[in-house]
Amino acid sequence: MPEGDSIFRTARLLNRALGDRVVTRIKTSLAPLARVNDDAPLVGRTVERVEARGKWCLIFFSGDLILLTHMRMSGSWHIYKTGERWQAPRSAMRVVITCGEVQAVGFNIPVAEFHTAQSLDRSEHVSQLGLDVLGGTFDIDKATRALREFGRVHPDAEIGNVLLNQHVIAGIGNIYKSEILFAAQVNPFRPVRTISDRELESISEIAQRFMQSNVAEGKGPGIVTYSGARHTTGAMNRGARLWVYRRQGLECRRCGAIIEMRRQGTGARSTYWCPSCQPYIG
Ligand SMILES: [Zn+2]
Repeated sequence: MPEGDSIFRTARLLNRALGDRVVTRIKTSLAPLARVNDDAPLVGRTVERVEARGKWCLIFFSGDLILLTHMRMSGSWHIYKTGERWQAPRSAMRVVITCGEVQAVGFNIPVAEFHTAQSLDRSEHVSQLGLDVLGGTFDIDKATRALREFGRVHPDAEIGNVLLNQHVIAGIGNIYKSEILFAAQVNPFRPVRTISDRELESISEIAQRFMQSNVAEGKGPGIVTYSGARHTTGAMNRGARLWVYRRQGLECRRCGAIIEMRRQGTGARSTYWCPSCQPYIG
C-alpha cells in the first residue's frame, strides 16, 4: 500500500525521468483526462517538475497545467524507455506520458485530475493537507502543535486514527502508524487527550525519522514498489525490518511479550502493538 514514502520516491523518479523534457505524446483511458487534453493539449508542454504532497503526486507542466494523481491501494507509476516491454498488463494502463525516448506509465491509477494552480488551491484534496512529513517545511514543533490542536477539538480520537488523518499530518499510512507508535511507546488506542506533549513530540520526531530513512537514495529499476524494503528497526534483512507490523502472535523484539493486532477506526485498519511496551491509558 503506497504511503508517503512511496509517493515521495515515485515523484523523485518521475522528476528525474521527465523533468525539463517536452511531452511528445499522451495517451489515456481516463475520460476526464482525455477531455482536458483535447481542450488544452499536453503535447509540446515541458514537464517543469514533479512533487509529492502527502500521498498525492503532482506533475507540473508549462502553461499552468498540473496532473494530480493518487494511487490508493493499487496504482503505480513506471518509467520505461519508449518501446520497452511493460511490467504490468496493458489493460491496467491509465495514462502514458511520452517525452521522446522516455515514457512514464500510470497503471491502475484510480484518481487523476488536471488542475491549474488556482483550481489546485481550491481542490479539497491538496489544499487541506496537513504538514507533509517528508516536505521541506516539516518541523517537529509544528507537527506536535498540529496533533495537540486536533486533540483539543477531538479529545477522544484515538492516536492511531489521528496519525492516518491526512489533514493533521500528511504522508503517514497504515504500516508507519503502528511502527511509529511502537517506537514512541504509545498505545494506538489511547485517546489523544491522554497523550503528553512530550509523547506527541516523540511521535512527530520518529515519524519524520522513519519516513526519511525510507526515502534515502538507492539504486533500483525505474519502478517504485510499495511492498518493498520498508524498514524501521535498522535491520535490513527480510523478516527483521519492522517492529510490530504484521507480527501479531510473535514476540516483541524489545520485551518478548506477544504482539497483538486489532482493527481500528472507520476503515477497520489493522493496528499492531505490544501490550507491554505500549500500555493502554484511558
Ligand atoms: Zn514489547
